[in-house]
Parts: sequence; structure tokens; C-alpha cells
Amino acid sequence: TPDLIVGLLGILKAGGAYLPMDPNYPEERLKFMLEDSQANILLAETETINELPQFLGRTILIDKDWTEIDSANTPPIQYRHNNMSDALAYTIFTSGSTGKPKGVKITHRNVVNFLITMQKEPGIRSTDVLMAVTTLSFDIAVLELFLPLVSGATVALADVDMSRDGRRLANGLKRMNVSIMQATPATWQMLLAAGWQPAEGFKMLSGGEPLPQNLAQTLLSDSTELWNMYGPTETTIWSSVSKVTNPKLIDIGKPIGNTQMYILDKHLNPVPIGVTGELWIAGDGVSKGYLNRSRLTSERFVHNPFVNKLGAKMYYTGDLAKYLPDGTIVCLGRVDFQVKVRGFRIELGEIEATLAEHASVREAVVTAVDLGNDDKRLIAYILLEQGVKVLETAVMRRFLQSKLPAYMIPSNFVIQDQFPLMPNGKLDRRTLQNPLNGVIDTADYVPPNSSTEQKIAEIWADFLKIEKVGIHSDFFELGGHSLLATQIISKIRDNYAINLTLADFFDSPNIADLAKQVDAVNWQIKVQTAPLQPFEGEAEEFEF
Ligand code: AMP
Repeated sequence: TPDLIVGLLGILKAGGAYLPMDPNYPEERLKFMLEDSQANILLAETETINELPQFLGRTILIDKDWTEIDSANTPPIQYRHNNMSDALAYTIFTSGSTGKPKGVKITHRNVVNFLITMQKEPGIRSTDVLMAVTTLSFDIAVLELFLPLVSGATVALADVDMSRDGRRLANGLKRMNVSIMQATPATWQMLLAAGWQPAEGFKMLSGGEPLPQNLAQTLLSDSTELWNMYGPTETTIWSSVSKVTNPKLIDIGKPIGNTQMYILDKHLNPVPIGVTGELWIAGDGVSKGYLNRSRLTSERFVHNPFVNKLGAKMYYTGDLAKYLPDGTIVCLGRVDFQVKVRGFRIELGEIEATLAEHASVREAVVTAVDLGNDDKRLIAYILLEQGVKVLETAVMRRFLQSKLPAYMIPSNFVIQDQFPLMPNGKLDRRTLQNPLNGVIDTADYVPPNSSTEQKIAEIWADFLKIEKVGIHSDFFELGGHSLLATQIISKIRDNYAINLTLADFFDSPNIADLAKQVDAVNWQIKVQTAPLQPFEGEAEEFEF
């Protein structure tokens, strides 16, 4: 809502730093974030305050406390004169491999350098309208909310429903004459799945995970602009940008202003052009490190030996990369167990550590399986504690839901007697069986009855990659997510004359209820369009 932006500007004007808290996160996680950050003010809305943990500091309700807010007209703090560019602007929590999320501390210097550089490339004009679709919990929202504002351009705000529903978003883009949008590849796929096509002159920024060639090919045309944006939260939103000219050659471009990127070997020596090495980032985007994690900070942010400047640091990204002959950088995957699932950054170790907190679990391993078409699923493999015979998926799911955000909950849980090991005794992840091959939904399987249920079950099975789906099974419990839901809705629309929205789908995410909705509408249509008496000539087409 616009109040969100008012709140952010208010915090910055007062010289504070913000920490975004998504009310959809489990209470335990929010509580941890509040405690870890030692936040002393909670800015919320009446509607969400009850979803947040109990807070002992001062609470301000932005939709209610206007008498007090209005009376506080102190001028903005003078950052430049008080030399406050190293003061914190925001802290963002990201997944932590040891089991707890970690806060990244970003300064005003970091953000200002970023915004000024983005004004040049990819560039923004005061006549532009940028549609903001990203939740504030991701740092990339900073580009969407602040870049237009510091450039005299317009921000169009997509609410939650619009940002996760391809059709609504496509309508919003048209209605508001949007000329720029930034999103992860998953959101671009969602828009395309809803039948959207970029308008002439549309500027698209894609980032957060590798830009698939086929997506780039579909998005790019003679009259559109597509940019591949790369960067970790720790070096402030994006550290390199690349204007895509050939969708078959996707690179991450060159560093943005006042930023250096080094591709190094294990001994911190630069590798030659064309040779794969580890990517390090230095310069004005490098953040102050992790909140209350001095050891982790000193491991990942080390002295930069390539510049003669006291205190200069470079950040170890964990990404593999190589140089092309012209200095352009190509990203080649990761060295660790950090994955991206639909744009969300996840340390598999955090899910494993959380699973291991359950009394019945001796050990857990989590993998991300790529099913193609931008569909990645998390699979958990579990060794049970001695004496424990069964552990139901629903129980595990509920346990994790109380601790982790929804995008970190595995779609499948596989109980194993032992993990496959390599000769050196290390876990052999590659030979863990893929449970998605020929999965049958066994949870109280009820077969389809009507032809509508049968058809919808086939569509679900196809997209969920499950052989047989019961009509009462919950879409999300079977590994479903919003992108799949959008694709399924489009398919249902291809088959039936129904204007099904994502919200309808989320309200009753099982086949039986969906079939009821479809049948109700299609029955009405049959009645309306059925000619009362036989007539000659062509029937008029019914418009929906
Ligand atoms: P985050 O901190 O959520 O922005 O995640 C940063 C990580 O996402 C990077 O270290 C990369 O592994 C990955 N990443 C972000 N953008 C891209 C991109 N355009 N291409 C490839 N990987 C990317």
C-alpha cells in the first residue's frame, strides 16, 4: 500500500534503519528477527499487528496514529553534513546455512551508489512508470520503490493478489501504462503463462537467479529491452547488469559503478580469461556484513588485496564464474548448497537443521530437484530416530510451517533407512532417489467421479508430475506453488469457459471443489446458449 512507502520514507527521514517483517512468516521466525535486530520501534498496520509477535518496544500504527505523526515535522536528518553515509539504511534477513536466518546490514552509501548507477543503466526517465511487484522482504524491492522516486518517475504498486496472479498483473501493466518492471524469472514465466506479451518499448529487468535462454528468447523482441541483473544481498541488490542482445548468450555483464568483481582461484589469484574461478565483489556496494555474526562476517568479507585502501573489503559470493575475452562475466552456478527456488534464496542447510530439531528425526538431507520449465521442488530425505517407525508427511509439514517461510517447506518427504555414501564416507547426493519419478498421491486417494474431475485431475497430474491425484488432496501439500497454479488455471480456461482467478483457486485448492466451480459456470452457459428452438445459420458466439 502507499502507506508502506510513507513508512519507509519516514524511517529514513528520521535517521532510522528499517527491517522488513512479512506477517506471513511464522511467528517464531519474526520473533527471532525482532530479538536479533534489537529493533526498538515496530511500525505496522491495524490489520497486521495481530499477526506479529508480541513487541515490548514502541508500536506505531501507520493507518491510525496520524495526529501524532502529523505533529512530528522535524526536518530530515542531514546525512551529508553529519557524515552519516555509513549509517544503516536497512537490514534484510536471508537464509542461514546453520539453521537461523542472518541479517545483512546495508548503509546509505551502499544504496545511494546503487540508485545513482541504476539511473544510468538500465536507466529510467521521469516519464517512466515502474510496476513494483516484489515484497519488501527482498532487497530488490529497493530498486522498485526508490529508483522511480529519486528519478521523478512513477511507482505503480501491485498488491499481493496482483503480484501473484499473472492475468491481474498483465491487466495492471496495461491499465497503468507501465514502461518498466523488475522481477525474477518465475514472475516473468507467470506473466507469459497467463498469455501476456510485453508492449512496445517495455523495459524488463530480470534477476535473482539465472535467466533461462528460452525465457529471454520469448521476452526479447525488436521493440523491447531485457536486462539480466546479478548480485547478492550482501553487496546491495545488483552488482552487475547486462543488456541482453542475444538470448542464446546469457551473461551477467560487467560491474556497476564503483564496484569491482574478481574471479579468483583458491589462493586468491586472478584466473585467466575463460577459466572458471570463484567470484568476489568489492567496492561501494559491499555491506557492513552480518548482524551479530562477527565470525561469519570475517569469513565472507575479507581484506581486499587488490586495492591500496585501508579497511577495503571484498565479499565471497559462492558463485562460480568466468571472463569472456571482452571482460564480460558469465555465471556458472554455485560452490555450495545455496539454491534459488522461484527467486527465493534458500540455504538447504537451514531446512536440514530445522528438520533435525524434530524429536523423531535423526538426520535430514534436503535437495532441490529441477523439473525444467522453471519448476524446482525441494525434497527432504529423513533418517528416523531409533524406535520411531512412522512419520507422517502432514506432521512434518506442520512442524516446519511453524518455523520456516512457506517457500522453504519441501514438497516431498522421503523416509530412508540410510543415506547413500561415497567411498570417502561423504553423503552422495547424486544417488539419492528422485521420489518425483512416478509418484502416486497416496494420501487418502479418492479417484475422480465426473468427467470434469477426471479432466482436472489429468491437468494436475501433468503439472505436478504425479501419476494419480486424489480429488480431495490439497494442491500445496502435493508440492504445488503459485506458478504451477497459474499454469493450471490457464489450462482449465483452455478447456472450460470459466473465468477462474488465482484467488478462487487458492480458496479451494483441491480437484473436487474446483470441478464444482467449473461445472456451476459451464452449466449456466449451456442453459444460456442453448437455442430454444432449432434455428438455421451460425450460432452467435458467447462472450466471456
Ligand atoms: P540474493 O541475495 O537473494 O540476491 O541471491 C544472490 C544469489 O542469487 C547470487 O549469489 C547468485 O547465486 C544468484 N543470482 C542472482 N542473480 C543472478 C543472475 N542474474 N544470474 C545468475 N545467478 C544469479
